[in-house]
Amino acid sequence: MKRVYMDANATTPLLPEVMEAMRPYWIDHFGNASSIHLDGQQARAAVDSSRATLAEFFNCHDAEVVFNSGGTEGDNTAIFGLLRPGDHLITTAIEHSAILEAAERLAQPGSRRGVEVTYVAPQPSSLIDPAAIQRALRPETRLISVMLANNETGVLQPVEEIGKIARAAGAFFHIDAVQGAGKVPIDVRRFGCHLLTISAHKMYGPKGVGANFVRRGTPVESLLVGGGHERRRRAGTENVPGIVGLAKAAELAMHALEDETGEGCALEDGELARLARLRDRLEAGILQIPGTGVNGTYIPQTPGAPSLPRICFCGKGGKPQTSTGHVYENDCKSVPRVANTTNIWFDNLEGEALVIALDLKGVAVSGGSACHSGATDPSHVLLAMGLDKTRARSSLRFSLLRTATEADVDYVLQVVPEAVERLRAISPVAAGTLG
Ligand code: PLP
Repeated sequence: MKRVYMDANATTPLLPEVMEAMRPYWIDHFGNASSIHLDGQQARAAVDSSRATLAEFFNCHDAEVVFNSGGTEGDNTAIFGLLRPGDHLITTAIEHSAILEAAERLAQPGSRRGVEVTYVAPQPSSLIDPAAIQRALRPETRLISVMLANNETGVLQPVEEIGKIARAAGAFFHIDAVQGAGKVPIDVRRFGCHLLTISAHKMYGPKGVGANFVRRGTPVESLLVGGGHERRRRAGTENVPGIVGLAKAAELAMHALEDETGEGCALEDGELARLARLRDRLEAGILQIPGTGVNGTYIPQTPGAPSLPRICFCGKGGKPQTSTGHVYENDCKSVPRVANTTNIWFDNLEGEALVIALDLKGVAVSGGSACHSGATDPSHVLLAMGLDKTRARSSLRFSLLRTATEADVDYVLQVVPEAVERLRAISPVAAGTLG
């Protein structure tokens, strides 16, 4: 059976070049980068050159790159490593649980840390309003942590503006860029952040490795102790093959993004623009099914217009269009989002049932965040955006791989309407027997 993987925000496969770059470091150059003999020095050279690549990826100095085990560790490091008793943290209600649960732990009554946390709510589009961050500031605000791209909607947050607010307030600024890295250019100087987190497996690199940008002089306490690795900022023998794989993935992502924006390259010809067109065609096709809509992404411009517009194909002049030329029914302004993601609700059915039905037809998608797989709670992101529980539970995330093809989209557009029709016919939600 044909299989189409549309869950790239959960994880991605290695690009072949990444696999090839890592290969020698498992068996031939297996040395410990802390050893002074030749084998160790070969490993050290690989870590050093990977660090230089990451420094280019972040636009920072080599010494500001700290390798770690991935997004969860990077996010936890920002929260646990920077906050002290009596501090105030500003974050958002749509962050990944690696931020939210770390913040909750520090805010627990009786916690040794005694940190106060403000969770800024998103707009219905899932965009965070910088003015809301500004309003949440207190004299004790030590850290602001906001993600670059939301994992469920793909919406890109105004991190540059938030960086300016943090700077004016004298607060540290952390960006969880796990879902943005590789999809949009990263520039820590432009973003104005002190810390930024990425994870290799979301950008066609290996699982279990990532990196933090840590601006020189930022007083982050190491989570792990026991060795002087990473300039005493992260103890533990370096995962040399993983680090080499992360660097290769970062290098390939930089090339792809340069093709997108570099001189002499029309934006429409780039790989990510192609992906956006595929995503838009997929979205438009699914929205032809009655009782569906996009979660977030579009801001209603007409007072009273619903924030979750239905698409139409009649081509009214002057209305916003997707890259496939479809026009939206209501006056809506789209908010920026990464090229590969769309999140769609389906009235009168249970999202989890649709995930399973599609899997049986060879299509892998996710209902809510894959990092919560196994949990049946509706997505906290969709709830924070204002969806009710039933609609949040009926939502699916489609996140395309960079290698997605027109044939993949054709196949998904064939099986989704069939599966929806079949499930709706037997759905307890449709029958009103499920809350
Ligand atoms: N941050 C975001 C936005 C994520 O989407 C994820 C994983 O889905 C993480 C952090 C955690 O990253 P990792 O899987 O590398 O621990």
